[in-house]
Amino acid sequence: MQKIKLGISTCLLGENVRYDGGHKLDRFLTDTLGQYVDYVPVCPEVECGLPVPRESMHLEGNPESPRLVTSRTKQDMTERMVQWARKRVSELEKEDLCGFIFKSDSPSSGMERVRIYDEKGMPSKKGVGMFARVFMEYFPLLPVEEEGRLHDPRLRDNFIERIFALKRWREILGRKESRGNLVGYHTQHKLLILSHSPKHYQVMGKLAARAKEVPIRELYQQYQTILMEALQLKTTPKKNANVLMHMMGYFKEQLSSDEKQEVLQVIDHYRKEYIPLIVPITLIQHYIRKYDQPYLKEQVYLHPHPLELQLRNHV
Ligand code: SF4
Repeated sequence: MQKIKLGISTCLLGENVRYDGGHKLDRFLTDTLGQYVDYVPVCPEVECGLPVPRESMHLEGNPESPRLVTSRTKQDMTERMVQWARKRVSELEKEDLCGFIFKSDSPSSGMERVRIYDEKGMPSKKGVGMFARVFMEYFPLLPVEEEGRLHDPRLRDNFIERIFALKRWREILGRKESRGNLVGYHTQHKLLILSHSPKHYQVMGKLAARAKEVPIRELYQQYQTILMEALQLKTTPKKNANVLMHMMGYFKEQLSSDEKQEVLQVIDHYRKEYIPLIVPITLIQHYIRKYDQPYLKEQVYLHPHPLELQLRNHV
């Protein structure tokens, strides 16, 4: 697999582009995730022509249509930033990004809960950074996260799972359009989709089943939209336990009563969050090999991202 292309706020890579001349290097993003990712850095404030160092800025006004204003001299940078951002997102379209990692709390790059001041100068955490807003409106289905939220193991696992799933989908898009390719992708991702949303799993199953009746361009577009919507919904221990039980159903008859007892107990312990997801997954994989289940062997759910990232050791 080629590396995944991700947009990122430049300061997270350790570049000295912040208003105070510093950076916000995030070692997980550069050293760990960076092994699988080609980053496309974007610093809205520097790229729209502001110097380093520069006066700090903040958001003011209505959270739905905020102004970007310098903190001391009160210069309004809104038009400059929005015009630049619109041009930049259309350039980014050519990059074929699989997602974006934003710097939290920034009036330009923050994805959510950015401080915004009302007319009385009272702050509330209801703002969205100027560039982040334009980006998310332009690419509504693209996976986006903030570096701070990626310290949460569940959010991290979910985001990384989504970018890998999207990368594999983009590889399908890179090949000749064919119903067979789409159905092949769907077959391998079925249980992954089920772990995010049983409802989307059903809708996508029906779409794949009548693939021959839908014009191919429409089929691809519909499938992509539902896939991205499904993966936006987070997995939970309950949903994962449901998938694990579903998998066990494939070789239930072959398991000895001792083995069955063991699998059920491990799934139950995982559901109660006594043990991480990697434990039942490893056990189930063992039985898939032992009882040779070709359909399950192909399931991306068993290895949605590189094991070396150890994401399932913490969820
Ligand atoms: S938060 Fe955004 S605007 Fe600020 S330095 Fe980082 S990349 Fe540049």
